[in-house]
Amino acid sequence: ADKSTVSITVVGASGDLAKKKIFPALFALYYEDCLPEHFTIFGYARSKMTDAELRNIVSKTLTCRIDKRENCSEKMEQFLKRCFYHSGQYDSQQNFVELDKKLKEHEAGRVANRLFYLSIPPNIFVDAVKCASLSASAANGWTRVIVEKPFGRDSESSAALTRALKQYLEEDQIFRIDHYLGKELVENLSVLRFSNLIFEPLWSRQYIRNVQLIFSEDFGTEGRGGYFDHYGIIRDIMQNHLLQILALFAMETPVSLDAEDIRNEKVKVLRSMKPIRIDDVVIGQYKSHTKGGVSYPGYTDDKTVPKDSLTPTFAAAALFIDNARWDGVPFLMKAGKALHNRRAEIRVQFRHVPGNLYNRNFGTDLDRATNELVIRVQPDEAIYLKINNKVPGLGMRLDRSNLNLLYKARYSKEIPDAYERLLLDAVEGERRLFIRSDELDAAWSLFTPVLKELEEKKITPEYYPYGSRGPVGAHYLAARYNVKWGDIGVDE
Ligand code: NAP
Repeated sequence: ADKSTVSITVVGASGDLAKKKIFPALFALYYEDCLPEHFTIFGYARSKMTDAELRNIVSKTLTCRIDKRENCSEKMEQFLKRCFYHSGQYDSQQNFVELDKKLKEHEAGRVANRLFYLSIPPNIFVDAVKCASLSASAANGWTRVIVEKPFGRDSESSAALTRALKQYLEEDQIFRIDHYLGKELVENLSVLRFSNLIFEPLWSRQYIRNVQLIFSEDFGTEGRGGYFDHYGIIRDIMQNHLLQILALFAMETPVSLDAEDIRNEKVKVLRSMKPIRIDDVVIGQYKSHTKGGVSYPGYTDDKTVPKDSLTPTFAAAALFIDNARWDGVPFLMKAGKALHNRRAEIRVQFRHVPGNLYNRNFGTDLDRATNELVIRVQPDEAIYLKINNKVPGLGMRLDRSNLNLLYKARYSKEIPDAYERLLLDAVEGERRLFIRSDELDAAWSLFTPVLKELEEKKITPEYYPYGSRGPVGAHYLAARYNVKWGDIGVDE
């Protein structure tokens, strides 16, 4: 029998993320038999609550997979019995000593491993890490800490945070989560590339014309803009999620699938990137808009946002990797709130077929004839490849159609939430999908200068109506590099 145990403490258990994501993910892992035989879950926060009250709150957020309904409520009950709560301050070693005492009771003399999930605002990260490390570290097993973004807001503050964390933790105890890396299709990127003959040989400047990384949300800050206003869309989405996808997409073949081998390759990509020029960045902010009699608020109508805020809720940027594989290939990023749809995708546009015999079929719009690979990360996970195909019949007419892998149609299994994969990896000590501190430094080095310049020059964002496709500046930015955004156009 397994002699070890794992104690998972959700610090900030009264919060939104804990309720929405962490507890449901832990339950899903339990339900799938992925957690060790012996485990205990503790919620920790300042709010006063009994174990029963925590269980009641948590029980409302648990769900069962569509394909696995049997025993579900029974399993939920068993899971909830293993959830406990301890109320305390984030900067009180004494309160963490009390937590330690409770954890020990549950660990009952087994080899005890401890995982702390910091689901709290960033200004109290270091206090909580200090107390957890000094007063509630595992006595004989491992102690690991999961931290959520933001990891600082520029190079200096990020380095300061890393230094502070490292006073209490070793690098291999810190698990910086970027939940995009836990998404099924992002994980699949490497499988697609490295286990199919047909993609990797094309994966370079020789065949790829441009790569697009697109993120859009169809809602605004909706009264929760206080946090966002301090960061803006570039820090909130581009510097982390989109850049991580870019690094995975563009890296050289790693020596193995080991975490350090993969992260070594990712960091090389980040360090090979050209500084971002301010001319290659477009920023926008959504304004109010009335459509069909309904009026949608502008960003600065949000009560938690200063009236004169210049914080971008939209940005587009052109980035370049200065290495042999990618020299001259634009990597275009686009991210925004309050747009016309909700989507995250990677688009790869291939070069024109040289001397294409069928050119006359495309008229003057040769761009339409190029192949495009689309990896849709969310919603409705899919991979499809746009190809040219003959329209059946006696004449010779070409048509653009898709080789289409729609996950919903192909796999009956429900796709696990990103948090499930990441929590499981943290329990198992798999670091592949977490951000190493040198990666984080490189990511900030790339974005900090341009962020500073935008702020120092007080560049006014281009205003776009709520629910639109975003500012037209993004179109001109792409056009400068002979690119058309793949998500806007005839065959969207
Ligand atoms: P939250 O609800 O604002 O905060 C979590 C808990 O921290 C609260 O329940 C509260 O618990 C405590 N807290 C809040 N403000 C505090 C303050 N000023 N001083 C001391 N304690 C405070 O945050 P969240 O939305 O759950 O997010 C947690 C972390 O994940 C944050 O770092 C956030 O940036 C990050 N994150 C969140 C999301 C999301 O979807 N929500 C997504 C990505 C990253 P008590 O008052 O009971 O102590």
